[in-house]
Amino acid sequence: MSIIERMQAPFNKTKIVATLGPSSNTLEMIRKLAFSGVDVFRLNSSHGSVADHEQAVSFIRQIAKEEDIALAILLDLQGPKIRLGIFEGVRVAKVGDTLDLSVSSDKESALFVDYKGLTKDVHVGDPIMINDGRIRLRVMDVVGDIVHTVVEAGGELSSRKGVNLPGTDVAVDAMTTKDRDYVAWGVKQDVDFIALSFVRKAKDIIDLKQLLKECGKAIPVIAKIEKPQAIDRLDEIIEASDGVMVARGDLGVEMNPEQVPIIQKSIIQKANFAQKPVIVATQMLESMIHEPVATRAEVADVANAILDGTDAIMLSAETASGDFPVESVTMMSRIASEVESSKLYNSQYLFLSQDHRADLNTQITRLLDLLPIKAVIAITQTGRTAEKLSKAKVRHPIIALCPQIRMVRQLSLLWGVYPLLYKGPLEISEVTIHQVAEHVREHSFLKEGDQVMLVTGLPYFTLGKTTSFRLCSI
Ligand code: PEP
Repeated sequence: MSIIERMQAPFNKTKIVATLGPSSNTLEMIRKLAFSGVDVFRLNSSHGSVADHEQAVSFIRQIAKEEDIALAILLDLQGPKIRLGIFEGVRVAKVGDTLDLSVSSDKESALFVDYKGLTKDVHVGDPIMINDGRIRLRVMDVVGDIVHTVVEAGGELSSRKGVNLPGTDVAVDAMTTKDRDYVAWGVKQDVDFIALSFVRKAKDIIDLKQLLKECGKAIPVIAKIEKPQAIDRLDEIIEASDGVMVARGDLGVEMNPEQVPIIQKSIIQKANFAQKPVIVATQMLESMIHEPVATRAEVADVANAILDGTDAIMLSAETASGDFPVESVTMMSRIASEVESSKLYNSQYLFLSQDHRADLNTQITRLLDLLPIKAVIAITQTGRTAEKLSKAKVRHPIIALCPQIRMVRQLSLLWGVYPLLYKGPLEISEVTIHQVAEHVREHSFLKEGDQVMLVTGLPYFTLGKTTSFRLCSI
């Protein structure tokens, strides 16, 4: 697909985040995924090597340059994920069996768990979940460095499977040595976002930001919400972060899965209100890992996340290790397109967004909604004008012209924003209008004669300061 064809594809307001992995980490596959609608590529530090991720960064940057498109990179830090050790073959855990876990790797009869504090943190009666919650153990006793458990839900156990301690207050650090090394690496690679897994409190985010400062770069931090402790402290975590992710995989293990849909809605609402981007993640099109079509339930799940008002929807194994990465992205894009053109969505999100409009100028956003324009063009130095228009959920696409490439990439996560690098003058005048018009005609879906509203808001989108509005055709 050429850039011309991509520009003719429908522009979706809902952004797509796709995880890279063995199925997709090639130049040509990343290009195909970008053309199918991916805005942000996620590098998951839980899997793959630094060399794999370095290769991905160079592919993404090369494609963005060659195709003249904005592609962002999100580095996802594993955080304090607890795992089983490495062992030969598969062990079957049957309901009613006893199973011993050990924090020392030299106990033959027990399964090694790579968290030293396990024996201190767990208590008799606590549940221990393994392999995304498929296997449930109950703590019977703790003796020395062994935790004796009984199997309540059985299944197959194999090397490096994830271990969750839902009822336990885990005393583990928010960032591991591996995370710290990846932060330094991410700074060197100039990634656009860093996500932290298993956030429990605002301080986890503040510490990561401090580390970034020490490394010399203020990269936006996304808090992955996947622990009950994070739900209890959601407001302070949202305030400390630059965005949040509803990490439904671990969230549905750490809490009951039936609690996840309401939590998802609440996180989206709070993030929207705080004007922070929000991503809904995990198992969105799970069956497409091995099938070329999605189930009706998955399609409904993606559609409902969009109806809830999320900025972005995310694919994990579907694009990282699945058999149909391009089809998965295309499916997401088709769902977004369908929902976004529905009456229900358009009436609902305008209704939902009323509160978010309070600090913008309500009259102006209402006016923008009513005008028969094709887009709002925001000329923005800091990106803030585009961010505010995005969170006010104005009805029209927001074409953000920004002189800084890092900001252009970061804007690609925001709902409704079509970011473009623009090095021309930032004030609107008779002369500059022609430059702007030519630039957007060349680089976006807008065509000659389209009506637009030009908005500048230097340094912020603040009426009465330097903000100006101009209705014109390009
Ligand atoms: C999740 O748990 O939903 C998630 C996004 O994290 P990860 O893919 O790193 O397990």
